[in-house]
Amino acid sequence: MTKDAPLVSLHPNVKAFIGEKRRMLIDGKWVDAKSGKSFEVLDPATGQVIANVPAAEKPDVDVAVAAAKRAFESGPWSRMTPAERGKIVWKIGELIMEHQEELAQIESLDNGKPVTVARAADVVLAAELFQYMAGWCTKLDGRSLTLSVPYTPGSEYHAFTRREPVGVVAQIIPWNFPLLMAAWKLGPVLASGCTVVLKLAEETPLSGLKLAELIQKAGVPDGVVNVITGFGETCGAPLAAHPDVSKVAFTGSTEVGKLIVKAAANDLKKVTLELGGKSPNIILDDADLEQAIPGAASAIFFNHGQCCCAGSRLFIQDKIYDKVVEGVAEYARKLKVGPGLDPSTQMGPLVSQVQLDRVCGYLESGKEQGATFAAGGKRLGEQGYFVEPTVIVDAHENMKVYQEEIFGPVVAAVRFKELDDELVRKANDTIYGLAAGIYTSNITRAHRLATKLRAGTVWVNCYNIFDAALPFGGYKQSGWGREMGVEVFNNYLETKSVCVGLGQG
Ligand code: NAP
Ligand code: MG
Repeated sequence: MTKDAPLVSLHPNVKAFIGEKRRMLIDGKWVDAKSGKSFEVLDPATGQVIANVPAAEKPDVDVAVAAAKRAFESGPWSRMTPAERGKIVWKIGELIMEHQEELAQIESLDNGKPVTVARAADVVLAAELFQYMAGWCTKLDGRSLTLSVPYTPGSEYHAFTRREPVGVVAQIIPWNFPLLMAAWKLGPVLASGCTVVLKLAEETPLSGLKLAELIQKAGVPDGVVNVITGFGETCGAPLAAHPDVSKVAFTGSTEVGKLIVKAAANDLKKVTLELGGKSPNIILDDADLEQAIPGAASAIFFNHGQCCCAGSRLFIQDKIYDKVVEGVAEYARKLKVGPGLDPSTQMGPLVSQVQLDRVCGYLESGKEQGATFAAGGKRLGEQGYFVEPTVIVDAHENMKVYQEEIFGPVVAAVRFKELDDELVRKANDTIYGLAAGIYTSNITRAHRLATKLRAGTVWVNCYNIFDAALPFGGYKQSGWGREMGVEVFNNYLETKSVCVGLGQG
């Protein structure tokens, strides 16, 4: 781990932002929780308190949903043209880039990720997401339909569909990509003309609050976007169950995803879920290893393995197994682990003590079940929530580290002999189906295998490539629905059929 390296000096606006008491945005006003309760936000590199945010509960949720309902039904938002909306959504992207450094530093302080990564990836992708969505505002049209119903001779129908916003949306996001997840969620809400109450993750509320400031500055009318901070059970749960919410969009654990479905079932809200994964990354013996080895390593170590789509089960063909394992282990050993604000850091701390305990628990269980470690295997240092990038070799199907989502920088390598049905069975043999990777130089093998993998995204000779145009989401227990691309609008738009009888003319 890098010791006492010079950290980037904090932007004056960031110092002010974390120095002041933070409030949440409800109905265009920055407010405390009605109860007056708040909670501490920690820097995962040190465990020190960096800010304080309101602990919203049901009464705050009620006010926020009421504001969103009013804004949807009667506010200026409901009367805006799609082009006017599009300009505002585009402006949010511009403002994000104007505040790139501040947002990157806030994200690094709050989540622990390297500031260099936050700057180049999280912030830029968030800005691009809004600008991609801005373009859709003017293009969410219905269709003109030609009917074949039996009709009285001479009578005709003029039939068409309209795409209309679903209404008030509740959104709940996790801590692994706080700013980017907020963007993925809010971009399509704004483009489709819905209104929203977004609950940020308890571990990482800061960049979402900064984004809310920018959204307000861009000209989004009061009540359209309400951003609240609070705990899952006392804030997220009443939000997901609120009777005036028409649709819930959730990203997080599969376990909480199931609770969301139950909360929404009472009045049959529409639900989309982006949940966990245990994604297979398959390296065939004809792969270009110069590309596949760093590819497989960053598939698991990117964002410290705290990615729902992390390539956490690494299937390597027999002939190249030792070379790939050694290559990935060497990559792990060389990774510079340190505080996110150190510009030379390549991997920061995990997000919290809870997450550190969880990952270390998996490492212990691996040891108890006889796992062999080619790199890593334990906590790093005494302060902060650092863990060693870890490569487990010859993992087998009944190990917990092979079966369960660890959500940390721990990859389980598995050897296979042939590209056959058995490999496909093993790759697909989890409750999840979020993503998969394939490394090969044989285009036929790549396409055949991509078709057989039960996953919402298959990356070939690359991994963790995201773009606002690429739909993302899960098969099986990895979720319902898709984020991004035009597909995301299926989550936020109703289709209305209008059929006009033209009589006889
Ligand atoms: P989580 O518990 O699923 O939390 C995700 C979001 O849901 C947070 O905003 C959380 O609030 C909220 N929440 C929790 N309980 C809720 C409830 N009963 N009703 C409504 N909302 C509720 O995830 P986590 O604790 O942050 O992480 C646990 C595990 O989830 C990870 O180890 C990983 O396996 C998985 N995970 C997956 C993703 C993903 O992108 N798919 C992201 C993060 C985590 P609080 O912040 O207050 O808890
Ligand atoms: Mg934090």
